[in-house]
Amino acid sequence: MTAPTDFLRLFSIKKGDIIQKKDICSFYDDEIRALIAEWGEPSFRADQIIKWVRSGVGSFEDMNNLPKELRQKLGEECYIAGVSAAKKLVSEIDGTVKYLYRLFDGEYIESVLMKYEHGYTVCVSTQAGCRMGCKFCASGLFGLSRNLTASEILAQIQFASKDNKIRVSNVVMMGMGEPLDNFENSIRFLKLVGDKNGLGIGYRHISLSTSGVVPKIKMLSQYNFPITLSVSLHAPNDEIRDRIMPVNKKWNIEKLLEACKEYQKATTRRISFEYALMDGLNDTPECAKQLAVKLKGIMSHVNLIPANPVKENFFKKPDSVKINKFKAVLEENGINATVRRTLGADINASCGQLRKKEGDYIC
Ligand code: SAH
Ligand code: SF4
Repeated sequence: MTAPTDFLRLFSIKKGDIIQKKDICSFYDDEIRALIAEWGEPSFRADQIIKWVRSGVGSFEDMNNLPKELRQKLGEECYIAGVSAAKKLVSEIDGTVKYLYRLFDGEYIESVLMKYEHGYTVCVSTQAGCRMGCKFCASGLFGLSRNLTASEILAQIQFASKDNKIRVSNVVMMGMGEPLDNFENSIRFLKLVGDKNGLGIGYRHISLSTSGVVPKIKMLSQYNFPITLSVSLHAPNDEIRDRIMPVNKKWNIEKLLEACKEYQKATTRRISFEYALMDGLNDTPECAKQLAVKLKGIMSHVNLIPANPVKENFFKKPDSVKINKFKAVLEENGINATVRRTLGADINASCGQLRKKEGDYIC
């Protein structure tokens, strides 16, 4: 068992003090058991605590089947990070709910609850901010503040589920932040999200989206989670990708697609490629042709996303004629593609519009 030191660090780094409490909701069952045994408590207490922790309990006080002393000890040694809703917006068009959550240390993140025919999906943030610097995206405008812990990612789903009295069946790791730049916590989240005492969300109902952190794609493939890997490609060649995604200078399209092939070989899963169509930049039939050639030999699906406007940049979405032409060229060349439906358009809930600083929220 590895010591969950990452959670201890959270307090000491942020606050510069020596408070080191354990983020117990990010612990695996065996880590909770070990901790409770260390305190000399019987194992059934650990079972009770595990149940509470997985249920998304808000405080140790609420653990009403534990003796007062144990609740006190938990409060002294551990913390429940959780999220609290600073703002909530409900779309009048389709009922999509966007939450602005405040974290325990005053950071802000966003999360979106969407209703589809097959159930409810939550789009979770994995970092406060992002350091990848994609030119078309609002999440990275102010850089990275910090990584979220696994419990803070889980809490976004638990909150939306309780607030709306619904069961969340799908999760997309497509909110603010780059999940593979927060690798350890994202893995921990993936291992906890399916817990039968908790959210019970199966891997086949989870998508992880990455801008292309190549070594981490390779590491992820070793876990062999049957999740869907979404790769934000957005360009058919390095010339265009270099201009909009700094990550491409480190790992170019060739390296990225090679990692995708490796991932596919290891997991046998189809890869989903995200392609935000930006007017006059990457939306020509020639671009579609180049993209099709690049994706040959990969079992893939392309999600075309008409670029969402962000006030700090000048990217615009193409008109529907260009979008449909792009899709048609891909299909003529044997590549599956769909144009993504926009949900929550009236509340700026779409991709790339999530922002870090409260003052900057459009909502
Ligand atoms: N950091 C990860 C996941 C979060 S971003 C990633 O980049 O994949 C989720 C998706 O929204 C990505 O595909 C991203 O490229 C896309 N996106 C960001 N800004 C956008 C915008 N303005 N319009 C359309 N899609 C955007
Ligand atoms: Fe970060 Fe993804 Fe936005 Fe790029 S698109 S800045 S990786 S959140």
